[in-house]
Amino acid sequence: MKLILSKEKPTCNCGIFGIFGSASASLETYYGLHALQHRGQEASGIVTKDYNENNKPVFRIYKGEGLVTEVFDDPKILHDVLTGKSAIGHTRYSTTGSSESSKNIQPFVVHYRLGNLAVAHNGNLTNARVLREQLVNEGAIFQTTSDTEVIPHLIARSRLNDQVEQIKEAIGKIEGAYCLVILTDDKLIAARDPNGFRPLAIGRLNGSFIIASESCSFDLLSAEFIREVEPGEIIVIDKEVLGIGEVKSFNISDTLINKKHCVFEYIYFSRPDSFIFGHNVDKMRRRLGKALARNHPVYNEDDEKVIVISVPDSSNTTALGYQTELEKLGVDCKLEIGLIRSHYIGRTFIQPGQTNREIGVKIKFNTVKGVLEGRTVVIVDDSIVRGTTSKQLVKLIRDANPKSIHLRISSPPIMHPCFYGMDFPSKDELVAHRYDGNTEEIRKYLGVDSLSYLTIEETLEAVSEAGSENFCHACFSGQYPTEVDPSFKKEIYEL
Ligand code: SF4
Repeated sequence: MKLILSKEKPTCNCGIFGIFGSASASLETYYGLHALQHRGQEASGIVTKDYNENNKPVFRIYKGEGLVTEVFDDPKILHDVLTGKSAIGHTRYSTTGSSESSKNIQPFVVHYRLGNLAVAHNGNLTNARVLREQLVNEGAIFQTTSDTEVIPHLIARSRLNDQVEQIKEAIGKIEGAYCLVILTDDKLIAARDPNGFRPLAIGRLNGSFIIASESCSFDLLSAEFIREVEPGEIIVIDKEVLGIGEVKSFNISDTLINKKHCVFEYIYFSRPDSFIFGHNVDKMRRRLGKALARNHPVYNEDDEKVIVISVPDSSNTTALGYQTELEKLGVDCKLEIGLIRSHYIGRTFIQPGQTNREIGVKIKFNTVKGVLEGRTVVIVDDSIVRGTTSKQLVKLIRDANPKSIHLRISSPPIMHPCFYGMDFPSKDELVAHRYDGNTEEIRKYLGVDSLSYLTIEETLEAVSEAGSENFCHACFSGQYPTEVDPSFKKEIYEL
């Protein structure tokens, strides 16, 4: 029997990458996507622009299901198939559209009146259903079930004659969360929604320009970070830009810029070595851990040190912040590695008779018993979604005979769905929603001696250097920063 481990953390985001003006564009896109693998592990694709034997622009495409290294497992793909000096790439979880359908793997490529066009998208379009219905009524034929496909349709149907103007017009019609890289026959174009929900950055490498979801892509390539794409900004990179060394910048429309960055990117999603929303993720994550210690400390029950452990890898940095601050508060404590995570699970097999959930956690984690036995243990984690994995993890730690287990979460309880590109399960599956946000009931369910979450106010205070008012916190508060089409909400609930 094949066991596919359930997603215990929010998923459904994507990583996008684009490069213009490099002789090894596909190889750099491959490495760039590799650094963004944490943003999507179901499928990936790369499209390059080259010229055919008649010197006409031609797009080369290679996409598949799996990790970047699995899809591009033959060097010939990068050297012989994906030729050309510009490229875009995408690594994904499914956002909308079935994750099973290989047709939904991005980038999407079309050929239309003004040439070739490839699009890769990170986010979720909240009015995609309405736009799709309009387009279908006008005769459009869709190839996929992805929300992103409305974008090439809108561009191709524009009556304008300038491609950048066409793209601006199309982007003016879409709503929700989007970071885009678009490849045309002579340009690389990037765009970020006016709320700036998801991160997007501009870099430079040996005269070529790069766009990537997170700056950690640049580090892998030894590329220079230039700046972030601003909310509501369109960036155009073409031959002229390579000459002058500065990207062209446009506003999407007259739409009011209203920064609402996804606070979950700081809490969990982005890599700690990335720079997003004007700050290092590592710094913000430590601050969340410190806020957690200040507001929800755990004190010694005896003369022994309090043992602080993370749930590797995602809460390592937060646990570091928690322990440092706890020590500052005068609590005798120590950061220990109490859980060992296997990085090689992939898809595996289980014996009949074992429950999927139990073996799923045991395959992934084991305890360091000598560290935990007889001690007051604080587990620092970034979030709880369904609670089933946390419950199993607590059981595993309980088997190591600690004196007591205290769970500290560096985010508020997740009570509501995300309409902006992060995939939470249905409301009824969210443990916090099931127990109506009652921490004591959740504590009993998880089987810990104490449980505390950061409140929304404490979370926003921790990231206030980036402006507390500049963040979306809808999955905790239910306060959505944009109008969301009711049919889209229904679709999310029915998933
Ligand atoms: S609802 Fe939550 S996960 Fe979605 S964008 Fe807002 S903060 Fe991020």
